[in-house]
Amino acid sequence: MLSMKNISKSFATDNVVTHALREINLDLNEGDFVSVTGPSGSGKTTFLNIAGLLEQSSSGEYWLDGEDIAKLNDAGRSRMRNQKIGFIFQSFNLIPDLNLFDNVDVPLRYRGFNASERKKRIEHHLDQVGLASRMKHLPSQLSGGQQQRVAIARALATSPRFLLADEPTGNLDSQMAQSVMSLLEDINKGGTTILMVTHDPSLAARAKRQIFIKDGRVTELTQKNQNNLHLVNGE
Ligand code: ATP
Repeated sequence: MLSMKNISKSFATDNVVTHALREINLDLNEGDFVSVTGPSGSGKTTFLNIAGLLEQSSSGEYWLDGEDIAKLNDAGRSRMRNQKIGFIFQSFNLIPDLNLFDNVDVPLRYRGFNASERKKRIEHHLDQVGLASRMKHLPSQLSGGQQQRVAIARALATSPRFLLADEPTGNLDSQMAQSVMSLLEDINKGGTTILMVTHDPSLAARAKRQIFIKDGRVTELTQKNQNNLHLVNGE
């Protein structure tokens, strides 16, 4: 359902070329939960941004649900992103002046759902993340872990098939981080495919598959419940 072949990405700034990703190969199957770890500057966010259609690769092939991404124009990529992908970030990115109900409503309004469908979805997803009783509260009235739960409810509201998470627990203490991770595991059990960047090895190890990126290359990929280690792009 998600397939990358020889994906590379370079940035050129002031005559300095940075090779952020070098010939990444990855297949993601329906129901996968993949963690991505690696040193600072190794290319994790760039990888996630390309997977999430926020950035384009410099070369290589990227297929998402049978569509060749290179053949889509800006509007096509944007449509695909809105239909299929939900994002959560380290900094939650909630709108401070909107209560929880209205925060979760933002992507639903954007996608043009009618009022009763929006209400149904908002209540369902705030309940799913354990915050149904706080709908009228502002983000500032919640803990960090609760704010991330709202961001997760917002990401799920449009029923994306993929949830991409960039350091979702980076601003949380370890207890809250473990609890957000448990929520992500439940969401994954419900069928959503998850790709998560994290610096936390204990969280990375809870994913079904682990990818390590170093110097822009996927160096190792391990799969739970199998005692094998595949070298994908090992040097
Ligand atoms: P961290 O763990 O510190 O967040 P990362 O593994 O997510 O790092 P990336 O943010 O993907 O790393 O960056 C990979 C490389 O690409 C780095 O050398 C970075 O400086 C470079 N890079 C990323 N975005 C840009 C950009 N827009 N312009 C120039 N260089 C960039």
